Amino acid sequence: MAKVLKVDHIGVAVKSIDEAAKFWEGILGLKIVAREEVASQKVITAFIPCGDSEIELLEATSEDSPIAKYIEKNGQGIQHVALKVDNIVEALEELKAKEVRLIDQAPRGGAGGASIAFLHPKATGGVLLELCQRD
Ligand code: ZN
Repeated sequence: MAKVLKVDHIGVAVKSIDEAAKFWEGILGLKIVAREEVASQKVITAFIPCGDSEIELLEATSEDSPIAKYIEKNGQGIQHVALKVDNIVEALEELKAKEVRLIDQAPRGGAGGASIAFLHPKATGGVLLELCQRD
């Protein structure tokens, strides 16, 4: 049985990471520690550690990026919640066995070398839920 360990991070869609940093760093005094382009998702991610969890800022690199589409529809704001699991392969198998609707049938590479997979919001009561495993 795969275990959910904690809230790993909260994904926030922003138009500009530099603009958003004025609040998260300038006002709150937090620090962006990792900024990375994830080409497959057409986003730049910036991780901000906050206690035992992190805030992930997501900026689109293209108009057909999922983040650009999200902002177009909903405006800037919380886009997903990520839960850290101890074994993402097992977790996905268990979810499939329970007929939970998945966006990713298999783990794929996310920022920072993590393995990630998204569950469909229709299966979670409206939350785009990311599972992630970091080794
Ligand atoms: Zn994420």
